[in-house]
Amino acid sequence: MSQITNLPAIFGSDVFNETTMKERLAPEVYIAWKNCIQTGTPLELSVANSIAEAMKKWATEKGATHYTHWFQPMTGITAEKHDSFLTPIGEGKVMMEFSGKELVRGEPDASSFPSGGLRATFEARGYTAWDPTSFAFVKDDSLFIPTCFFSYTGEALDKKTPLLRSIDEVSREAIRILRLFGDTTAKRIITCVGPEQEYFLIPRDLYAQREDLRLTGRTLFGAPSPKGQELDDHYFGTIRTRVSAYMKDLDEQLWRLGVLSKTKHNEAAPAQHELAPIYTDANSACDSNQLVMEIMKKCAAKHNLVCLLHEKPFEGVNGSGKHNNYSLATDTGKNLFSPGKTPRQNAQFLVFLAAFIKGVDEYQEWLRCTTASAGNDHRLGAAEAPPAIISIFLGDELNAVVESIISGSNYTDPEKGVMRIGVDVLPAIPKDTTDRNRTSPLAFTGNKFEFRMLGSSQSVSGPNIALNTIMAEELAQFADELEAAEDFDSALQELVCRTFTEHKRIIFDGNGYSEDWTQEAARRGLSNLPSTADCMPEYVSQKNIDLVTKHHIFTENEFRARFEIHIEAYNKVLNIEALTSIDMIRHQILPAALKYTEHLARSIQTKDAIGVSCHAERSLIQRLSASSDALYDLCEKLDADLRSIPSSNTDAAKYYHNVIVPDMDNARREADLLESLTDKSYWPYPTYSDLLFY
Ligand code: ADP
Ligand code: MG
Repeated sequence: MSQITNLPAIFGSDVFNETTMKERLAPEVYIAWKNCIQTGTPLELSVANSIAEAMKKWATEKGATHYTHWFQPMTGITAEKHDSFLTPIGEGKVMMEFSGKELVRGEPDASSFPSGGLRATFEARGYTAWDPTSFAFVKDDSLFIPTCFFSYTGEALDKKTPLLRSIDEVSREAIRILRLFGDTTAKRIITCVGPEQEYFLIPRDLYAQREDLRLTGRTLFGAPSPKGQELDDHYFGTIRTRVSAYMKDLDEQLWRLGVLSKTKHNEAAPAQHELAPIYTDANSACDSNQLVMEIMKKCAAKHNLVCLLHEKPFEGVNGSGKHNNYSLATDTGKNLFSPGKTPRQNAQFLVFLAAFIKGVDEYQEWLRCTTASAGNDHRLGAAEAPPAIISIFLGDELNAVVESIISGSNYTDPEKGVMRIGVDVLPAIPKDTTDRNRTSPLAFTGNKFEFRMLGSSQSVSGPNIALNTIMAEELAQFADELEAAEDFDSALQELVCRTFTEHKRIIFDGNGYSEDWTQEAARRGLSNLPSTADCMPEYVSQKNIDLVTKHHIFTENEFRARFEIHIEAYNKVLNIEALTSIDMIRHQILPAALKYTEHLARSIQTKDAIGVSCHAERSLIQRLSASSDALYDLCEKLDADLRSIPSSNTDAAKYYHNVIVPDMDNARREADLLESLTDKSYWPYPTYSDLLFY
C-alpha cells in the first residue's frame, strides 16, 4: 500500500469544501452561499447555477462522470441514484452539463423507500433537495450531493430533515439563554457530535460459509469458543497486520472524504475494533458516520475481510455500540457544557446542565426508544452495554455541586451556607476522558455527555434529534421564566435549585449492571424498557407528540410514520432471523448431526462384529439422537408459531419478542449442543473459534 506522506494535502481532497468553494466560486457567489448557510436565506437560481457549474468542473477534473443526490431514507442507510452529466448537443456529440436546478432538486423514484404511510402509492413521488450546509464530495466516479428527502406534500421521508430542524430549534432557544447572561456576540449554537464506532472484522471466506451472517449480519448459532475475551488480551492489544493494513486504507479513504478519523484500536472482544472521529457539527457528523459505515464495509472486501456492524454478531462476547458524544457550542467557539472559570460562566453552565437533567428525566422513554432495535436488544441490559434504564452519571465533583445546591449547603465549606449560583466559583471539575463508569447510559465526561446506548449499525440522527429537541424544550421553559423575572440572580438560584431537586432521581453514579439498581430505579419511578417490544408503545405517547409538534421537529403524521417504520423494521428483522434459523436447522444442522450419527452407527456395527468395545460411540449416539429429536421438535414449534403472527404491528412486535425469540433461543441451545458433539469435519459452517481467532 502507498505511504501517506502528506496528510494535510489529502485531507478533504475529494470534498467540495469551503476552501475549494472560495477558490472556485466568484466572490459574490461564495458570499451568497455563506449567507445561505449562516442565516438560512434561500439561494437564487443564478447563484445555484454558478455553484453547479463550478462543482461540475471540479468533479469532472477528479474523474466524475455522474452526479447523485445522496439521501438518508428511513431504512437507516443512505440511498443514491446516479445520473451522468452527459447532454447531447447534436451531430452525435455530447457535453458535460449540470444545472443549478439539478443541483438543488431531484426526483428519485421513491416508491420503494419506507414512508410509514406518509406517501400513498398513487403519489409515489419523493423529492430531494440540496442541503447546502453539508459539503458535496466525489466518490466512485460520482459527485455526491447531500440532500433532504421529502414527499409531494412536504413531509420528511428521511433522517436528515428533522435533524436540521432540531439543530435550528435548540440553537434558537439556547441563544435566548445566552442573551440573558449578556452574550451578545453568539449568533448560532452548534450541536457538536462525535460518534465512536465499534465493529468486527472477520475473514471473508469464512463469512461466505455462514448463511446466518450473510442473511442477518449475526450468528444465529455457534457453540462458544474455548477461549473468549476472558484474558482481556485483545483490548488495546497489538493490531494484526491484516487488520492494520485495512485500518490504514480505511483512514486514507475517509480522510480524502474529509472525515476526521482520529483514533483506532482493538476493542474488548476478539476481532472487535473501534474508530473514533474528531467531533464536528451534528449534520456533518451524521453524514460522516454514514460514510464511515459504508466505507468500512467496502474497504473490508479489498482486504478479504468482512466488516460486521451488527450489534451482536457473536453470543458470549461483547457486542458493538456507538458512543454518541454530545455538546452544544456557540459559533464563537464556547462549549456550553464546559464549566467555566468565573462565577458567571459557572451559572450559565449550571443552567445548561439543569436543562439536560430535566429533559432526560422527562423524556427518558423517547431517548430509550431512539436506540431500540432488534440488534440492540441483545446488548442493552446484558451487563456489557449500558442497561436499558436511562440515568445520568455526573461524577463525584459535579455530584457534590448538585447535592450542595439541592441541600442549600456549601460543597466545600458547610459554614459558608448556600452555594450562590453566579456568585460562588465551582470546584475544578476534571475533564475525564477515561470510562469511569462504563455502566452508565449517559455520562458527563468533563465538557460533553456521552450517550452510550446507541447500536453500532444505527444512524446517529434519531438520538441527536431527541437530545436537541429536549434541550430546546427545557431551555425555552427556562428562558420564559428568566426573561420574566424581576431579579435575575434570585430567579436563577431558585430555578436551578428547583430543577435539580425535582429531577435528581435521574442521576445515578453506581453500577448500572447490578440487580440493586433495577430495583432502586423502579422505586425512583424511572422507566425500564428492556426490549424494543417494550419501548414501542411508549414511542408515540401524547407527551412525545406534544413535544415534537410544538418544536416543529415532526408533524404528528411524520412522527407516527416513523413509529410505524421502526416497529415494522423490528418485526421484519425477527422474521428473517426466524426463517434463517429454520432453514439452517433443516438443511445444514440436522443433516450434519444425522450423518455423523449414521457414521457412528456403522462404526458400532463394524466394531461389534469383531467384538470391540463401542462405549464412546454408543454414548455419543445416545446424546446425538436425543438432541437431534429435541432440535427437530423445537424447529417445528418455531415454524408453527411463525404461522400465527398477529396482524397489528404492535401486537406482532410483542409476539416476536415473547414467543419467537424464546423459540429461536431454545433451538439454538440444542443446535449448539449438537455442534459440540459432532465431528468438526461434518459441521456445515465455521465455528466461533474459526471466526474470532483467525
Ligand atoms: P475518549 O476517546 O477517551 O472516549 P475523547 O474526549 O477523546 O474521549 O472523545 C471521544 C469522542 O468524543 C471523540 O469523537 C471526540 O471528538 C468527541 N468529543 C470530544 N469533545 C467533544 C465535545 N465537546 N462535543 C462532542 N464530542 C466531543
Ligand atoms: Mg467513549
